[in-house]
Amino acid sequence: MKFFPQTYRARLIVYSSVLMVFLVSTLAYSYYYTRAVILDESENNLGNTARLLQSQIESERNELLRYAGIVSDDLRIQEYMFVVVRIGSDNEPLLKLYERLFGWLPVDRRVMMGDNGRVLIGSQNQDLAAWIRKHREHVSEKVFYFEGEYGLEMVAVAPIVYQGDPLGVVALTRTLNRSWLQQKRQNSGGHVFIEKGGKIVLSTLGDTARSDFEISNGRLHLGNETYRVNPMELPGLDESMPHMWYGVSETGLVQTLRDHGQITALLASAGGLAILAVGLMIFRNFNRPLSRLIVMTEEIAEGRLPVMVKSEAQNEIDVLANKFADMLQALRDKQTEIDRVHKQLEKSAITDTLTGLYNRRHLQEIFPKLRAQAHRDWRSLSITLCDLDHFKKINDQNGHLAGDQCLVHFAKLLKQYSRSSDFLYRIGGEEFAILSICKDMEGSVAIAEKLRMACEENPVTYRGKSITVTVSCGVSFTTPDDPHETALQRLLSRADKALYDAKDAGRNRVCVYQEASRSDTPGAQRA
Ligand code: GH3
Ligand code: MG
Ligand code: MG
Repeated sequence: MKFFPQTYRARLIVYSSVLMVFLVSTLAYSYYYTRAVILDESENNLGNTARLLQSQIESERNELLRYAGIVSDDLRIQEYMFVVVRIGSDNEPLLKLYERLFGWLPVDRRVMMGDNGRVLIGSQNQDLAAWIRKHREHVSEKVFYFEGEYGLEMVAVAPIVYQGDPLGVVALTRTLNRSWLQQKRQNSGGHVFIEKGGKIVLSTLGDTARSDFEISNGRLHLGNETYRVNPMELPGLDESMPHMWYGVSETGLVQTLRDHGQITALLASAGGLAILAVGLMIFRNFNRPLSRLIVMTEEIAEGRLPVMVKSEAQNEIDVLANKFADMLQALRDKQTEIDRVHKQLEKSAITDTLTGLYNRRHLQEIFPKLRAQAHRDWRSLSITLCDLDHFKKINDQNGHLAGDQCLVHFAKLLKQYSRSSDFLYRIGGEEFAILSICKDMEGSVAIAEKLRMACEENPVTYRGKSITVTVSCGVSFTTPDDPHETALQRLLSRADKALYDAKDAGRNRVCVYQEASRSDTPGAQRA
């Protein structure tokens, strides 16, 4: 899985993107599918309604034809017509008879015409009469459309024959005017358009004639509106006859679909964002404790044991992080304990247990640092070796425990009479040392002398018995020419020599090592 993202953040983006693509595709698919269904359905509806209207118009035509047939088949009309046409009498009785018999017929205009071209009924409809006269052979027993003074009319013509003698014709009309169109619109919910000579001459929109239209691919574009239209048959006898369409507004439908599309896009975006937000929230929940764990682990790897604040949350990762914090706390406690024991060990490694003074090891450790410091300050180091006199005898006479008490007692005096900056040692059985940084030898020698006197004047009381202890001291100083590696060794051996001189001279005294005097006589002198 080399190309699969490694971090959860990157994976989250991939997962969210996949979900978003699914969501957007689903919504887009459903939108386009619904749109196609709606458009199909509206197309079907349009076709069905157009067919319905067509059949309505046809039944109107048949009805009109039937009315014409009723009139032409009426024997009384035929007889009167015969009298008027063949005998040439007045047409007034025929008119009256017609009005009486057929005045009720729901027609708009009527013309009855003799075969000689004479108009017997409907003399005011000369336009129609003229047209029938002209197209006599074609219009007989048919319905046609005629455009005259009253607009577009459906005209049914029937011949009137009396005893085999064709006397003339009767023509009844229905005007296809605005109210007729409006009636069609009420029935269908759509619009009817009548076009002639490059103009919409009549439509259910109620407008006056308009020429800003275009018809293509079953659509009529009129101004800003578009209508899906179906042609309807209006078979006339003339090429210049108007055309008729039934149509429904597509603009509204398209707008509705567009709105629907916008809502779909909005939903898809909102859904996508919601997916991303939920993903980020989940990621944040995971990431916060995980990041803390990573940071903590890195700190541990670098050798620290950081304090980890516990979380209130109870989810699995937070619980894990809290356990980790507990573990860290336990480790820190252990570390504190180890540090304490370590310090204790360190201290005991450089401390004499009986007296609490430093031991020889500390002397070896501190000496180089102290020497460097003295060097910087243009000062010397002095060491005063103190050895209790005839200590073996004290032990022998008073017991080992008494001897120990003498050692403790001397250590106290040592602390009491030395300077706070001095380092105090028990470097052997009954041997002690003072290491100091000093400007001149007088200071160290004076301390040694005070100590010697204090020791002599403060006997140790052990089980009611007073034990006087005396001490011999040898003092020596570093010199600038001492090689670094052997400086301590030389300082100690010089002090030892001075101490030896003190012992030699009768004990209970302080001797200072003096280089010049070493060449002939023992260089110790009584301080
Ligand atoms: P000098 O005046 O020449 O120093 O004689 P000294 O007897 O003090 O010297 P020596 O080296 O002969 O004897 C030191 C004695 O110190 C021997 C030993 O029993 C005793 N000693 C060493 N360490 C201890 C200790 O921790 N406690 C006791 N009570 N005695 C100790
Ligand atoms: Mg000794
Ligand atoms: Mg001794």
